Amino acid sequence: MTSSRSTPIVSQTPSSPGKAAPSPSPLDGPAQFLKGVGPRRAEALGRLGVHTVRDLLFHVPRRYEDASTVSRIADLQIGTDATVIGEITSKGVIRTRSGLRIFQAILADGSGRIECSWPGQPFLDRSLHKGDIVLVAGPVRVFQSRQIQPREFVVLGRAGEERDASGKVLPIYPATEGLSQKILRAIIDQNLDRLLPLLAPEEPFSAEQLAALNLPTLMNAIARMHRPETLADAERGRRRLAYEEAFFLQLLHARVRIRDAQRPGIEFRRDDSLIQPLYKRLPFTLTEAQTRALREIIADMTSRRRMNRLLQGDVGSGKTVVALFAMALAAESGYQSALMAPTEILAEQHARNLKELIGELPLEVALLTGGLASADRRASLAAIDSGEAHLVVGTHALIQEGVRFHRLGLAVIDEQHRFGVRQRLALSELRDDSAPDAVAPDTLVMSATPIPRSLALTVYGDLELSVLDERPPGRTPIRTSVRNERERGRVHEFVREQVGAGRQAYIVYPLVEESEKIDLPAAEAAFEQLRDDVFTGFRVGLLHGQLASETKDRTMLAFAAGELDILVATSVIEVGVDVANATVMVIEHAERFGLSQLHQLRGRVGRGADQSHCILLTPGDPGAIERLRVLAETDDGFRIARADLRLRGMGDFFGARQHGLPDFRFFDPERDEDLLIEARRRATAIIEADPDLGRPEQAPLQAQLRRRYGDRERLYEVG
Ligand code: ADP
Ligand code: MG
Repeated sequence: MTSSRSTPIVSQTPSSPGKAAPSPSPLDGPAQFLKGVGPRRAEALGRLGVHTVRDLLFHVPRRYEDASTVSRIADLQIGTDATVIGEITSKGVIRTRSGLRIFQAILADGSGRIECSWPGQPFLDRSLHKGDIVLVAGPVRVFQSRQIQPREFVVLGRAGEERDASGKVLPIYPATEGLSQKILRAIIDQNLDRLLPLLAPEEPFSAEQLAALNLPTLMNAIARMHRPETLADAERGRRRLAYEEAFFLQLLHARVRIRDAQRPGIEFRRDDSLIQPLYKRLPFTLTEAQTRALREIIADMTSRRRMNRLLQGDVGSGKTVVALFAMALAAESGYQSALMAPTEILAEQHARNLKELIGELPLEVALLTGGLASADRRASLAAIDSGEAHLVVGTHALIQEGVRFHRLGLAVIDEQHRFGVRQRLALSELRDDSAPDAVAPDTLVMSATPIPRSLALTVYGDLELSVLDERPPGRTPIRTSVRNERERGRVHEFVREQVGAGRQAYIVYPLVEESEKIDLPAAEAAFEQLRDDVFTGFRVGLLHGQLASETKDRTMLAFAAGELDILVATSVIEVGVDVANATVMVIEHAERFGLSQLHQLRGRVGRGADQSHCILLTPGDPGAIERLRVLAETDDGFRIARADLRLRGMGDFFGARQHGLPDFRFFDPERDEDLLIEARRRATAIIEADPDLGRPEQAPLQAQLRRRYGDRERLYEVG
């Protein structure tokens, strides 16, 4: 990186008296000295992440059981998921013919009995005993006889013993070896009353605020979570803690957003000398959603504030045109724009499409990618430097090399599926590197993975949000089907028919970057077989991430030009590739992809007038088939993202490389959207009134913010 920037990304924050660390509380003391703990149990607690007294208070139940969640054994339905409580009446380890050892126990509850089976866990024979009362949760199936395969279990006590569970809500804690549910519950029970009052000084919200939100105090919330009277009671406690998480993240985001907005921005002036003729030239009319987004963008750009906006929209919702109008507005004011795409293929495609939309209008486009021949590169650099180029389209080359922009006024990032703080840091580098002394450019980030609004506000809370929730009319919906792998032969037959009729097809293999090296031989072997045995007589190409970038480009261009009939590829084609004649996409091992990623892949077909098809191949696992059916039922990316999130959780949805994701313990973007909106509103009002949280009455908020987000604050250069 050619960075000679003076502003470090991680700045040293001098401590000042008003911002001192909160005075030590007994809550920060070690958990070891609590009643009933001691050195051995303290070690086990440590494995659960519980080190301090505070940690123990916040070690809240993972879930709860009460009469409404526990079934009678006699009532269990095959194929459902159930929780039962019963006594172990017999048990033992069996060995299957293949050598697998299975721990089995018979559970009885007065209504009936059921077999529980733990494959591969013979060691449970030592910890579960005849006469134990256990709670077991998992799927009910038939395997020789009716059985339940516990996903989790909890020993509640011994038969005949008095149990505290009867008629009440039973908290189920995350437990560990050497620290059973029973012991954990006892430790918390013995200490809770004495510890709860220690939370009172940590309450960041006033009584009035809490009343207005209808939420309990922190102390009360923790009490409810450990000892709920009802499930609704526990949920009220959780919501309180969820609100707190949402609020502090929004407070951080509000600081970044408002600080950014206060930075001097460019006040673009619209004279319609380019926007009008461009509008007239368009071969289509803008959708309502495009018009709305554009209005928001133009309002930002023509204001004195600096734009910092996310444009979200489903595949094919037409984000590029919106960006083009924004860039035209910049040019009307005499400013240059940069559009950065994640791959060379995409950058080239953008440059091509933009030139086509611009036609004869006086807007020059320059392309800058790592793969340019040196003469072309020199020409591009000169055009960028002189200002002859109004629109600069490129890859990371735009920020990685000594590119001299000329009055750069707008930076557009077509970030596709890259999320989080990381790429936003790259964005700020583009600002700094490009215009060290000039006013920083307005920024527009475009994301092609639609996510629910609440989640967008969570992950991108520091940006303003525009959403394209509508797609241009007149598209033929893609026909999507889920097929068992055994039908591959017929699927290939179908591909042959389509390609024989002049169309093109993609066949996609799931190679995630991390394991690509391992899976690659399999994909290459599959490619050779497809080329030599299955699709003889057709032109078959291979595209994957490990190929040299010229090879990739050559293959992609050949496919785009119709010189290849079938492209066997990994998910590298996911990003924005646009070949209108491609009408078939076959995805192998579809179950290994997330739904949103499949939706993204599917968006590579259905770009022309002809009927397109997406065929998802998968082994026969009914769960996987069920999940994939969501795609057959809808092509609404927002709905798909919702389902995907529900099924996989936030971490997996965003992928392991996602670093900017807040680690929420209580907040659930889907369930708690109302809390989030309220938190955002309040946080924004507070920061607008007191951007640095310097007023004495905000000291508790400042202290909490620091405790929660000290590191991230520095990441954002706030504070
Ligand atoms: P994405 O949002 O996935 O990046 P693009 O910007 O690539 O979508 O647009 C997809 C296609 O739809 C392009 O060919 C574009 O020209 C076309 N398009 C964009 N807006 C409209 C519209 N309002 N009516 C018809 N076609 C449109
Ligand atoms: Mg796009």
